[in-house]
Amino acid sequence: MKKKIVLSICLLIIIAIGLYLVCNKNNGIKDNNIPDINSNKIDAISYYMKLDLDINMKSLMEEVEIEIKNDTYESIDEIIIRDMTPSIHAYNKKNYNNDKQKSNIISIKSNEQQLEYKIEKESIIKVKLNELLKPNDIIKLKVEMKTDIPDRQDRFGYVRRKDGYIYALSFCFPYLADNKNGEWILSPYFDDGESRSYDLANYEIEIKHPKDYLVIATGKEETSDLVTKITANNIRDVAIVVTNMMEKDTFEVEGIKINNYYLKSKYTDKYRKLTELVIKDAIKVYTNNIGKYPYEELDVTPLLFGFGYGGMEYPGLIMTNATSFYDGTLMDAWSLSDGLSHEIAHQWFYAAVGNNEYSEAWIDEGFTTYLERQLFGLYDGEAHKYLREIDEYAPSIEDNIKSRDELIETAREDYKDKFLNTTPDNYSEEQNYGETEYEEAYLFLQELRIAMGDDKFNLFLKELYNKYYLKEVNTDIIISLIKEHDNSERINEIIKFYFK
Ligand SMILES: [Zn+2]
Repeated sequence: MKKKIVLSICLLIIIAIGLYLVCNKNNGIKDNNIPDINSNKIDAISYYMKLDLDINMKSLMEEVEIEIKNDTYESIDEIIIRDMTPSIHAYNKKNYNNDKQKSNIISIKSNEQQLEYKIEKESIIKVKLNELLKPNDIIKLKVEMKTDIPDRQDRFGYVRRKDGYIYALSFCFPYLADNKNGEWILSPYFDDGESRSYDLANYEIEIKHPKDYLVIATGKEETSDLVTKITANNIRDVAIVVTNMMEKDTFEVEGIKINNYYLKSKYTDKYRKLTELVIKDAIKVYTNNIGKYPYEELDVTPLLFGFGYGGMEYPGLIMTNATSFYDGTLMDAWSLSDGLSHEIAHQWFYAAVGNNEYSEAWIDEGFTTYLERQLFGLYDGEAHKYLREIDEYAPSIEDNIKSRDELIETAREDYKDKFLNTTPDNYSEEQNYGETEYEEAYLFLQELRIAMGDDKFNLFLKELYNKYYLKEVNTDIIISLIKEHDNSERINEIIKFYFK
């Protein structure tokens, strides 16, 4: 009897261990054939920055400490840091004849010891480590640099108007190059789009600035006298706007605190009302159809990017283009509404679900354009009503459906042999960034929606979002997930048309 009990207990333990191993194995591996790209990398865990903005010299002093973990299986003796400021200055020199701006690295240290480094292709800084960094080891690198701030209405630059200044500080901080499976990803600076890091990290920033200037940044800001502290966790990039020209409205949508900044001009009231309504409708529609916004706050700040420029997305911060409301004689409400609903959608596809914005821009731009046009654009809410009230050229919902259907109808003619999985430096002669990454990617998703039917497609969207929330995706992952939802001949034919 006793023996039998012992035997049974042994058997139970063996079964339990077996079950544990089987379950654990399934947990460890991502579903079926979907590749895992979210581990095995050199990983930036946190950034600690001390910045000093000099508004007389129009320059920025930066001391950036990066906490880096070797999350690969091999020891390394070199780390690659990116600094895009020389590329931006070179771009401005070539395109705007602006050759006065410079930037330079002052030192790179670890544990107060100077490290040797070599700069290649303007933006690639190869740092030689004094000791091997073994798997799971952590190192802190401190980069000290100084850069001039371009006189340009852009993501990194300043503008001056009769009532003050706007400094846009982004694309100007040194960061760890992205790394996948031990390979460094070294895409060049790309002015038409983005080639930022898409690795999540935590940030703590202190910025010194003049009195009477507001600091608007990704995450939370706390100003005391001449210093503002910024804290932001789980973000892929950071942006800071420093200005003495803005005021703000604060309100809440879906539990998110919105800081909606505005400039003062004769169209201010319309700008404030339209942006507030677009923010409210867009966040509601995206939350209900896709999932939860990843942060507690969202800052929306107007910039003067010039005519024809949409806006710019960062995690928890959006730059809208307020040029026509501030500088123009003709306010372009329709473009503002389109641009803002697009940048808000990037909080779902870019900030929450990340991807390589350079080599696979079709992912974040395509899904974002889909959210903008299909979800927000066809939503008959307050924002749309007000837009039609103040802009006689703005389309009705029926007009939006009509233009969508016309685009779908000619997609096969327009995009034959122009594949979405092409990097900008490999485009064919007929391809360009806007057409490929926005329009064609949007039409790929529309074709999928029609073939799958709305219900199945919406389920796919939600699953993609929830599964890869605060993670990264690539083309293979998305195609595998599409096929998990629908592996019909029709779907395979669509994939074959858009991807090589
Ligand atoms: Zn976009």
